[in-house]
Amino acid sequence: MEWKTDYDVIIIWAWSAGYPAGMYCSRYKIKNLIIGWLPGGALGTSHKVENWPGVISAPGGEIMEDFKKHAEESWSEILTEMVTKLEKHNNHFHIVTSSGKELSAKKVILATGNNYRHLWAPWEDDFLGKWVSYCATCDGMFFKNRDIVMVGWWNTAITEALYLADICNKVYIVHRSEKLRAENTWIDKAHKRDNIEFVLNEEVEEITGKMFVEEIKLKSWKSLKADGIFIAIGTIPNVDLVSEMHLDKDAEWCLVVDKRQETSLKWLYAAGDVTTNSNKFRQTIMSAAEWCLTANSIHEDLLMEEH
Ligand SMILES: Cc1cc2nc3c(=O)[nH]c(=O)nc-3n(C[C@H](O)[C@H](O)[C@H](O)COP(=O)(O)OP(=O)(O)OC[C@H]3O[C@@H](n4cnc5c(N)ncnc54)[C@H](O)[C@@H]3O)c2cc1C
Repeated sequence: MEWKTDYDVIIIWAWSAGYPAGMYCSRYKIKNLIIGWLPGGALGTSHKVENWPGVISAPGGEIMEDFKKHAEESWSEILTEMVTKLEKHNNHFHIVTSSGKELSAKKVILATGNNYRHLWAPWEDDFLGKWVSYCATCDGMFFKNRDIVMVGWWNTAITEALYLADICNKVYIVHRSEKLRAENTWIDKAHKRDNIEFVLNEEVEEITGKMFVEEIKLKSWKSLKADGIFIAIGTIPNVDLVSEMHLDKDAEWCLVVDKRQETSLKWLYAAGDVTTNSNKFRQTIMSAAEWCLTANSIHEDLLMEEH
């Protein structure tokens, strides 16, 4: 296949935000290329998704494959490669890929997502998808009337523990020191719940279970019987590719975008988990709103430039 080199829009990284952004751009007849390398995106790692409208229950990978098909059917071009360089010169973006292709575009959408911070304990990978989870909104309902452990000390950990306490039988909040960094309002609410127990000055040593999580062994002599463990110790946005561009970022390194999804660099847009938008409520449906808005903003900008 002969590659074109000049596009209206290049979308960097596929999946939750990237493929649908391409699909929307195609519907506006905006010449777009989606560059995607790693399979599945964040949702692709989820073995069951039950909150994507219209799909009662399906593996995340299956939903992502449908996103891909939809983009292909909409005539988005898709290139399975890495992007090794992104620069802006003379009002044009220049992109170099891992095989050395040199591409250019009037506009770029970054849909690079983010990664959940891991504890990097050996057991974490062993039980990934077997009820080590990083997202209570995504997986909480699978623990109805069960006992779970939450690891974390910021607002996310405590608010997610409160959410899980409405669903689960028992929630243990484990933190390695006595001091939590969440707002006192959240901590007070958690203390008032009969089924939340704080296990402070403790660390998770090991997880055991035949197939799935069954028991959490702590650094002291204690161990907790639990069917799952949630880790809520923060996220790391994937912004390496634009590290030289000095874009505006917030304290957590998310890209600051305006209401039209444009970053602090003109014609560089971002959508999905990598941005500050959607109140950082990191769900596919929120990325959906952002990809749609981004394509619409680009369409408006291109029209303005033509006239
Ligand atoms: C285990 C899990 C379960 C989830 N369950 C649900 C759920 O049930 N419902 C829901 O709505 N949401 C769920 N989410 C959240 C949802 O997946 C995200 O909000 C959504 O995928 C964000 O989309 P995105 O396009 O911004 O990022 P992503 O889908 O993560 O896509 C970004 C892509 O860019 C790639 N990338 C980034 N940097 C590079 C690089 N340098 N080189 C190559 N590739 C790169 C990433 O690998 C990834 O493939 C879940 C998340 C996880 C982790």
